[in-house]
Amino acid sequence: MNKLVSAGNTIDVIKKHDFTFRKRFGQNFLIDEHVLEKIVQAADITGDDYVIEIGPGIGSMTQYLCEKAGKVTAVEIDRDLIPILNETLGDYDNVTVINDDILKVDIAGLIEKENKGKPAKVVANLPYYITTPIVMTLLEDHLPISSITVMVQKEVAQRMQAEPGSKDYGALSLAVKYYSDPHIVANVPPNCFIPRPKVGSAVINLIVYDAPVINVKDEKLMFKLIRAAFNQRRKTLVNSISNSGDLGFSKQEITDALNAMNLPETIRGEALSPEQFAALSDRLIF
Ligand code: SAM
Repeated sequence: MNKLVSAGNTIDVIKKHDFTFRKRFGQNFLIDEHVLEKIVQAADITGDDYVIEIGPGIGSMTQYLCEKAGKVTAVEIDRDLIPILNETLGDYDNVTVINDDILKVDIAGLIEKENKGKPAKVVANLPYYITTPIVMTLLEDHLPISSITVMVQKEVAQRMQAEPGSKDYGALSLAVKYYSDPHIVANVPPNCFIPRPKVGSAVINLIVYDAPVINVKDEKLMFKLIRAAFNQRRKTLVNSISNSGDLGFSKQEITDALNAMNLPETIRGEALSPEQFAALSDRLIF
């Protein structure tokens, strides 16, 4: 089977099957071999690995994954792509294609069935319209996943990797850093895709921690505090958290907690590290 990655091959396959791109599914297919190699290399896949690919498209990256991994499951929402995938992946006996929305798939059940519950690696050129919900589901659900290597919008990759105090730092950076160690591995220009997206892209590799490296007594409360802090980003933490009615903390309680942490009461959420949000959360429940 010829590799599909070139623009010519991709167009041939699309024409042959009379396939129409669907914008609502975020369909921008990769046509650059070097970028595909870089993604697969960053994911560090060996013959022992079970890989879940989200949104295989016509299967260009899936082919690379099948060559490297022990087993691959590719989850594709667009049923018009299934006959194409059956053809382009026909030479591989280590791949299963599932026609479903990744947000509706029982991922823990899938990993249990296909890999006896041992950690999977997730690799994807993600549809940009649902990048954050997908990445957050993979992280928050405490699934057996050891790494997530994904192409996302460049700005989203920068937010995931951002440090406290920077303009890109926010709830997404904190969540990603709480669960994983993120590294941007490549910036990818629009001309590497058909059709070309309007924005730049980047590949980011998240090495998911086996166990949390930050201890917090009530993870849910910490994330509620983080959301409250960044919903009103320009306000001080004391104001943004006390304004959030459902949390029920008074200005005095928040000020006392910050004082006990040697932080000024004028501080904003954007200045706090993940460890400091965890410490604030622990102080507020006692
Ligand atoms: N992997 C292919 C490539 O790199 O050329 C295609 C990537 S394209 C950016 C995103 C793919 O995700 C499309 O094939 C799209 O149909 C699929 N997709 C969109 N939403 C999805 C969802 N909720 N669940 C599974 N697949 C989805």
